[in-house]
Amino acid sequence: MATEVETTLRGPEAFSLARKAMEAMEAAGAWPTPLNYEIWLHYVGDPEGPLGREITRLLSAQEPFTEGTAEMLAAEFLPRGRLSEEIRDAGALLNRELSSVASAIAQAQKTQAAYGETLAGASASIEQVDKPESLRQVVTSLSAATAKVREENAHLESRLEDSTKEVARLREHLEQVRRDAMTDALTNLANRKAFDEELLRACDDAERAGTEVTLSLIDIDHFKRFNDTWGHQTGDQVLRYVASVIGRVAKPPRFAARYGGEEFAMIFVGESAAEAENVLNAIRQEIGSRALRRRSTDDELGAVTISAGVAQRHRGESGSQILDRADAALYVSKHNGRDRVTNGERMRAPAAA
Ligand code: C2E
Repeated sequence: MATEVETTLRGPEAFSLARKAMEAMEAAGAWPTPLNYEIWLHYVGDPEGPLGREITRLLSAQEPFTEGTAEMLAAEFLPRGRLSEEIRDAGALLNRELSSVASAIAQAQKTQAAYGETLAGASASIEQVDKPESLRQVVTSLSAATAKVREENAHLESRLEDSTKEVARLREHLEQVRRDAMTDALTNLANRKAFDEELLRACDDAERAGTEVTLSLIDIDHFKRFNDTWGHQTGDQVLRYVASVIGRVAKPPRFAARYGGEEFAMIFVGESAAEAENVLNAIRQEIGSRALRRRSTDDELGAVTISAGVAQRHRGESGSQILDRADAALYVSKHNGRDRVTNGERMRAPAAA
């Protein structure tokens, strides 16, 4: 649901949604803080979602909308809040594990020290042994102390084993949380945050190793028309469809992300603009080759086409500079009639082509 609101915020209804959020906040007496704004945007954008329903409940119960209320709602319903909750929970579990292991180790150390004392005592006693009965007593106390140490060690071992498993489970869980935070929920491609990080890394690597990096921005043609004609749900299916085709060819070291509403981005590491252009043309042809149908009514949706712009990194160029050039190339594709790929490098140097 949060994803639908995100999509709307980059679409034609963005400002009307923003105005509605401000009005609803004012009516409820909520200060226009950034957090409140985010919460109320989700409320007006998706009133039937879990957050929307909870706010409706608070409003009808005439409960005051305090900062505490906002924080509680954010922690429970906003993806970012959930993420930090998960990280906090994992941190608390990890602390608990570590202190339980530390106390098991401290206990084992105590037992070892006591064992040492028993041994020392036994060694002194043996020197003074004069009858078999005394020797038996020394041996009995030694074997009792040994059994205790063995038991303590076994306990420590099993505690460490449990703890290793628990830490591995937590690590796996945190890895999943990290992946979720980097993934666009609707399309399952990487999200904008992951893309920004990847582009930075690719540019750093390229600067160091002198490898090629090519960037592409891809936009679905007339996406607004799909949304307006067939509704948001079908619009979302179109996004998923385009993402699935892009995702199939974006195997590492290629990287694909949902860049914004109906815009996608691809990074081609070790590939030239001409190579990327070929790949994008194959993607473009595949996307346009399928006749999509509206699932609910079976109406034919017509062809989905995409436009793309390609730019190859020049020495010393930052990620945002390549992005600007890829965007300019995308603009040319749109301007020249859509359903095409423009290689920005050819645009720059037509005489050399
Ligand atoms: P999805 O609906 O979750 O489908 C996931 C995958 O299941 C599809 O991947 C496809 O391999 C298979 N699949 C689902 N429904 C059908 C079907 O009726 N016939 C066949 N032959 N296979 C089916 P794919 O093709 O990469 O599509 C990814 C996503 O793109 C789909 O996710 C859906 O959201 C969207 N999409 C694809 N084709 C259509 C379509 O004709 N109409 C609509 N409304 N959405 C579509």
